[in-house]
Amino acid sequence: MKPVEKICISCPVGCHLSIEMNHGELLVKGNACPRGVDYARIEMTEPKRMVTTTVALTEAAINRLPVKTDRPIDKDKVIALCKFLRTVSFKAPIQCGDVLITEILGTDVNLVATRSV
Ligand code: SF4
Repeated sequence: MKPVEKICISCPVGCHLSIEMNHGELLVKGNACPRGVDYARIEMTEPKRMVTTTVALTEAAINRLPVKTDRPIDKDKVIALCKFLRTVSFKAPIQCGDVLITEILGTDVNLVATRSV
């Protein structure tokens, strides 16, 4: 099977990984440290992403509130999450770190504010 090419995003170095499955064994080349192997394993089995975006905000001097997930969410749920976040709105005051939505989309991921308003 042809190797899969991925860029490790675990640190700013951004190693170019070549990932191959050989009889159930993961073979990774191009990683400058062991975290690249962990990254490759997750990418090949259950890829996840942190999501940072903004949501509608009322009763504040700004109309968008920056938010992020408190942990990576399954990559195949990212678009659904972004669509859902277009439908929600929050009211100031809000403190940086406040949990705005728990267990979003039935996951163990929460949405938190990244700015106080
Ligand atoms: S393999 Fe290691 S050094 Fe390379 S990008 Fe990933 S974490 Fe950084």
